[in-house]
Amino acid sequence: MSDPYDDQNIFAKILRAEIPSFKVYEDDETYCFMDIMPRTRGHCLVIPKTPCRNLLDATPQQLADCMATVNRVAKAAKTAFNADGITLWQFSEAAGGQEVFHLHFHIHPRHAGVPIRPPGVMGDMDEIKNHAEAIIAALE
Ligand code: 5GP
Repeated sequence: MSDPYDDQNIFAKILRAEIPSFKVYEDDETYCFMDIMPRTRGHCLVIPKTPCRNLLDATPQQLADCMATVNRVAKAAKTAFNADGITLWQFSEAAGGQEVFHLHFHIHPRHAGVPIRPPGVMGDMDEIKNHAEAIIAALE
């Protein structure tokens, strides 16, 4: 049995604007922002605006809403970084690699032969801001 949703998680605080984030895109159902410890250039996260711990308690509608945003932002990120492809990650529960317990999808623009960087390294905030602006400029 999983723990219940905790509205004090970092992404819930970002949704309530209690802590800042570099916004890439939002609609009524979803929010997309840059990861502050980016493991690829342009690493960003898509979350539902409604409470949800991870894939295991998500409703079909939350997943559908997130996927629509993932699709939109992934195409923009591929264009913005002239990437060769996209890697999409979703981790559920600690054993699955999840650290923040609000459903999220990682979008990684990928270049052939360039590996994903190790976790836990804080990014340069000016660079992350520039990367957010590059994706925003490529959104259709
Ligand atoms: P998980 O392992 O839960 O799938 O990934 C959580 C992600 O959230 C990590 O990639 C981590 O870098 C990112 N992250 C952690 N704290 C913050 C934060 O305060 N702001 C942002 N934008 N990202 C965060």
